[in-house]
Amino acid sequence: MEFSILADAFYKMESTRKRLELTQYLVELFEKTPEDIISKIVYLLQGKLRPDFEGIELGVAEKLAIRSISKSSGIPVKRIEEEYRESGDLGHAASTILEQKTQTTFLVEDITIERVYETLFKIANLEGSHSQDMKMKYISSLLNDATPLEASYILKILLGTLRLGIAENTVMDALAITFSGNKDNRKILQHAYNVSSDLGKVAETIATKGLEGVEKFEIILFNPIRPMLADRVKSEKEAIEKMGNEFAAEYKLDGERVQLHIEGEKVVLFSRSLENISSYYPDIIEKIPKVIQGDNIILEAEIVAINENTGEFLPFQELMHRRRKYKIEKAVTKYPITVNFFDILYHNGRSCLELRYKERREKLEKNITENEFVKYIPMCIVRNENEITEFMENSINAGSEGLMLKMLDKPYQAGSRGSHWLKLKREYQNELGDSLDLVVIGGYFGKGRRTGNYGTLLLATYDEDDDEFTSICKVGTGFSDEDLDQLFQILHPKVTIKKNPRINSEMEADVWFEPELVIEVVASDITLSPIHKAARDKIRKDTGLALRFPKFTGKIRVEKAAEDASTNEEVITLFKGQTKVAHDKNLM
Ligand code: ATP
Repeated sequence: MEFSILADAFYKMESTRKRLELTQYLVELFEKTPEDIISKIVYLLQGKLRPDFEGIELGVAEKLAIRSISKSSGIPVKRIEEEYRESGDLGHAASTILEQKTQTTFLVEDITIERVYETLFKIANLEGSHSQDMKMKYISSLLNDATPLEASYILKILLGTLRLGIAENTVMDALAITFSGNKDNRKILQHAYNVSSDLGKVAETIATKGLEGVEKFEIILFNPIRPMLADRVKSEKEAIEKMGNEFAAEYKLDGERVQLHIEGEKVVLFSRSLENISSYYPDIIEKIPKVIQGDNIILEAEIVAINENTGEFLPFQELMHRRRKYKIEKAVTKYPITVNFFDILYHNGRSCLELRYKERREKLEKNITENEFVKYIPMCIVRNENEITEFMENSINAGSEGLMLKMLDKPYQAGSRGSHWLKLKREYQNELGDSLDLVVIGGYFGKGRRTGNYGTLLLATYDEDDDEFTSICKVGTGFSDEDLDQLFQILHPKVTIKKNPRINSEMEADVWFEPELVIEVVASDITLSPIHKAARDKIRKDTGLALRFPKFTGKIRVEKAAEDASTNEEVITLFKGQTKVAHDKNLM
């Protein structure tokens, strides 16, 4: 299939934010797509080559792309940089430059989607000393044969700046319409996506096997299942109102969520955001297969750092020391952990998702043997407020954050945040009532003691509808000197020349970052804001929401991807849930 068809579709999609129009363009594209490349097209639409959990990164830097454009066009690097500075988008800059060039040369051959995809795949897999030269060679060979419009999209994919604002749901709507004639069948596709986390595979299945094929879609070992998430409650009373008179309470441990896929000696670990984190935990890989019964199994657990002498739980930040590429063995001995299991999703080739909570818990305890390293998360059945309070106190005393409350007779709802699981944290009882996880989008250089660091950060929520990051506040308090140093180390490599198009903010900043890092903040309340973009127009026209007196809690949420940050929906719920007094004050 010709790449020009995809480039034209990209062009149309870039010009709209309306979901219905986007869906229509996608349907038109899918109708033209042969079934053997539909998965590739679905990945490319999201600026990817494979599903996220495979961890394939194109990793092409702006400088290398500029050199490649220069090589294929014969135009000096300086001139391309100038054009880039003016247009703010290297894809557009390349297209303008190549337009001038195509007046003198003629195209050699049409490029196909297959060729572009394969070349990008080769680029992503290049490693070693000559890899930069090889990458440049591949890129310029594509640019040589591409039209200016095609070149601009090839570069956007390479640089990771293709932002069509297409949410996964929109892709699934379009797949349902194209291959079943009915958008409502999205639900069936959604299930397949929730259990595989691979939209390309879902697309290929419906294209080749129809809706029936998708209905039969099963869990695939070593493909992560999208996690079930919890709603928040503020008090024991609210929990009873929502859950009825008998439910399970588990400690909410302050660690890293992990999904373990095991078959024989093979173990793969996925984080909450479905990244493969196996390399950080060689101790888990080695020890867990010995305590499992069954041929294969998928489990969920919370990894918690512990004090080796006392066995006490340590805060989440301790696990940060495990996130390193080198000398991991040293970190394993220095920062010991326990693995605390709380769910079983698959066993001996069969899904456990449909089982009720209590059946899953029983199965979990039957198939894992506890020892020093392996535990079940403490659980008890509660029936009234007092029992919740008592278990909450035990949990807090043990170093946990609070409780997870789970309905006894409900299945595991992959990929959804719902009321079958609730979280009750101690901190919900103060101030705003909750912490928020926000994406760092901009920075301001510090003064005095903070010179040389970013003294203040600009933060954003995730807007699921438009797939963008909307500014919500600046935060400059709560940082220790070590925090500032550490944040500088992490953020400095994420500085961009131009603001990423997914950032929606009218604030000025000294530097803009790639929207990747998530940090936790608390605040006194949420106010209406004429400048910030979070939940813009949702409460009042031309007005967004902002956090008042935000403060960094000390937690860098490395286990969360930017898309896992607090959403505008959540902020609106918190805003509406503020006490009447606070609310009235905001509206004054
Ligand atoms: P948070 O920011 O509160 O950690 P989250 O957005 O990561 O929340 P939620 O589903 O809202 O995810 O809260 C549950 C989180 O708490 C899980 O992601 C997991 O890491 C952690 N956790 C700790 N103990 C448990 C438990 N017993 N059951 C489920 N999750 C637990």
